[in-house]
Order: sequence, then structure tokens, then C-alpha cells
Amino acid sequence: MQRVVIIGAGQAGCSAAFALRKRGFDGEIILLGEETDPPYQRPPLSKAYLLGDMERARLYLKPPGAYTDAGIDLRTGCDAIAIDAQQMRVDTAQGPLTADAIILATGSKPIRLPEAVTGGLAGIHYVRDLADIDAIRTAIPDCKNAVIIGGGYIGLEAAAVTTKIGLNATVVEMAPRILQRVASRETSDAMRALHAHHGVTILENVGLALFLGDGSVKSAVLADGTELPCDLAIVGVGIRPDIALAQAAGLRIENGIWTDARGQTSAPGIWAVGDCASFPHTGAPLRLESVPHAIDHAETVAANVLGARTDYTARPWFWSDQFDVKLQIAGLNTGYDQVVTRPGGKPWSRSHWYFAAGRLVAVDALNAPRDYMSGKRWIEAGQTPDRKRLADPAADLKTLV
Ligand SMILES: Cc1cc2nc3c(=O)[nH]c(=O)nc-3n(C[C@H](O)[C@H](O)[C@H](O)COP(=O)(O)OP(=O)(O)OC[C@H]3O[C@@H](n4cnc5c(N)ncnc54)[C@H](O)[C@@H]3O)c2cc1C
Repeated sequence: MQRVVIIGAGQAGCSAAFALRKRGFDGEIILLGEETDPPYQRPPLSKAYLLGDMERARLYLKPPGAYTDAGIDLRTGCDAIAIDAQQMRVDTAQGPLTADAIILATGSKPIRLPEAVTGGLAGIHYVRDLADIDAIRTAIPDCKNAVIIGGGYIGLEAAAVTTKIGLNATVVEMAPRILQRVASRETSDAMRALHAHHGVTILENVGLALFLGDGSVKSAVLADGTELPCDLAIVGVGIRPDIALAQAAGLRIENGIWTDARGQTSAPGIWAVGDCASFPHTGAPLRLESVPHAIDHAETVAANVLGARTDYTARPWFWSDQFDVKLQIAGLNTGYDQVVTRPGGKPWSRSHWYFAAGRLVAVDALNAPRDYMSGKRWIEAGQTPDRKRLADPAADLKTLV
């Protein structure tokens, strides 16, 4: 194998490039990124970087020079336009590249509201790229009223930051409760209380009808007719895996770019990692949107590109920072039928434990790092704690399994 072309210079693409080198690959590695910045971490975009607490350079995954030192040919501002899966060729804006292996790491794109809703007004922002956040930061000093569409993690983090900066923030959630897609009622209730305590208005069970304004946004009209003053709109209504190139190349798509357990797509020699890829997980295809997954997945798949035959085992974990709460999540709560709450000793501290047919499947820990660590360990080991004692904050976690 002489040349690997990686499409997408985000967390997964960058991790794959360095993993190939770490495993002794001495051929050419070309890392194509459509963005102009070198690979950077996205989690701080809706947290410390949006708040203005983190310098841009600290977002970068590697120091300048690291790519050259590792012999990785990073080409920023260079999109892949098409893939020919038979010829193993990637067409870029700067010309075609042949490859012995292609790794797709194209990530996700935010779901955008239709023009009929946005009216093409200025002041309506998304939260995915550095450019999005730079635009929000530039707008903030002239704004008073932020309306955040979507009460998922991104929307709630944006609400926390804009409130801390001094704006009036309102979250509009169409579902009956915030975090409905990802968390239990108990976790939603705790996060709602946290936001209310800090002055965020949360409206649930009501959707956005449209934005009104005069060149730039002035108000948000909700489905029930309520009109909210709004000079800054932030939309966080979910993401879609970026499958465009793969689909055009005829690769199998199944809630993302389909891969086998080793990360190979339906086209031999073409692999997919990170947010864009779906992979088998206990029988069904799964797609995860998180940094730890992007890193682990890229490392396993890089090994497989070089001839290992390792199935990827996902060990999902995730975090979110909102006001003074660190929410840490381990496992996947799909199919849960019981939630056990373990109260904590510190402000906002508690944990919610998800069980499916009596088996521990996930934990949400709010300012409860020990609960998170124990839960993560137990889930990975397939262990289930005693539920009654788990709910007793006096019971020592070490004695529960
Ligand atoms: C605001 C925000 C906050 C987040 N917070 C957390 C958190 O707290 N914890 C957590 O675990 N996860 C968090 N995530 C999710 C996490 O950042 C993603 O899961 C992770 O970045 C996925 O990595 P990736 O490399 O698969 O995709 P991405 O990071 O999206 O990278 C894909 C890259 O590919 C590029 N690309 C796409 N198509 C092409 C093409 N044709 N040619 C060249 N380049 C292309 C894109 O421009 C992009 O730069 C957050 C995400 C966002 C946006």
C-alpha cells in the first residue's frame, strides 16, 4: 500500500492519519479538509470558545508542524468533489488523486431550516464550524435577545453561554420536553431546573413557525402565535451524516455510510469513520456523534486499513457543560424501561441510571464524576449494580456489584 487518501480533516480524519503513522505505515497520507483551519476540536465551540474563554489556537488538535513532522500531507481548503470507487480515485478542486485506500471522515452537517421559515434573514446561526461560532461571537455585542431553536445538548449549551454573556435566552423545543431524544425525563427535569435557576426561559411542546425581520431577524413567531423578540437566533435542531460523496459514488447508505464491523464500506478499499459512518452494534446499524467514538473508531479502522482484522466495539461516552454542571454520559440508553436516581451531595449533583430488562445500559451523571466512572466501568464489563442500594446515596458504590 502506497497512498491513503483521507477525506475530511476533522476529529476522525486527523485521528486516522496519525494512527496510520503510529502503526508503522510509511507510505503517503493525504488528509483533505474543506475547511481552511487545520483539524480542531468541536466541543468547545458551544462552550468555552463561544464564551470567549478559549483562544482559537487551543482548539487545534495538533501544534503547527505536527503534520509535516509526521509526514502527513494536510491540504486545507481542499474539498473532495467525487470518488470513483472502481478506479480508486478522488477528484479534488486541485486535481485527481489515486489511492490504495480511501477513508471517508466527512462528519455531519447541521439540519438547516427552510427559507420559508428563515425568510433569508441575517442573524440566524448554526453551531457546527469555527466560522459559525465566529459569526455568533461577532454578532453578540449588538444583541439582547437570543432565541435558541432546539433543546438538545447544542441548544442548551448555547443557551447557557449566551445567558452567561448577559443576553436574555429563550429555548424553543418542539417535543414535549428538552433532551427528549437522548435522555430520560429525570435528566430533562434536572437540566430544565438548572436553566430556569439561571434565568433561561424554556418553552416546550411548541415549535417555531417563522422568523420575522427587516433584513435581519427581529422576532421569532411560534406555532401557538407567541412572538418572541429576537436579535440573535441559534438553530440546533440536529445533524445529518455527510453522505453526499459516498452516495454519489454508489456506496451503500443506511443511516450514514454503511460499514461492516471493521469499518469497510460496501466498496472494497473504501472505509468510513466517525460521525458519517454507521456500523453494526449488537446486530443493528449504529451511528454515534461524539469525540471519543471518532477517535476510537479511527484507530480501529486505521489498523484494519493496514491489514488487521479487528471488529470495532463501541464504548459510548459523552459530556456536556451547562452553567456549573458537567453532565457525563456513559453507555446507550436505547430500550430502557427503568431509571433509578441516585442523589448526590453537591449542588445539582445526582445520577440517573438506565436499566433495560434489569440490566444496566447507561448512566447520566450530573456533577457526579465517581458515579460516571463506576457506571462506565460496569457497563463496559457487563455488570449491573443492586438497584435498591444504588438509589441510596449512603451506599458505597464500590460495594454495589
Ligand atoms: C458545537 C459542538 C459541540 C459538541 N460537543 C461535544 C461534546 O461535548 N462531546 C462530544 O463527545 N462530542 C461533541 N460534539 C460532537 C463531536 O464534535 C463530533 O462527533 C466529532 O467532531 C465528529 O468527528 P468527525 O471527524 O467524524 O466529523 P467532523 O468533526 O464533522 O469533521 C468532518 C470534516 O470533514 C470535512 N469534510 C466534509 N466533506 C468533505 C469533503 N468532501 N472534502 C473535504 N473535507 C470534507 C468537514 O468540513 C469537516 O471539517 C460536538 C459537536 C459540535 C458541533
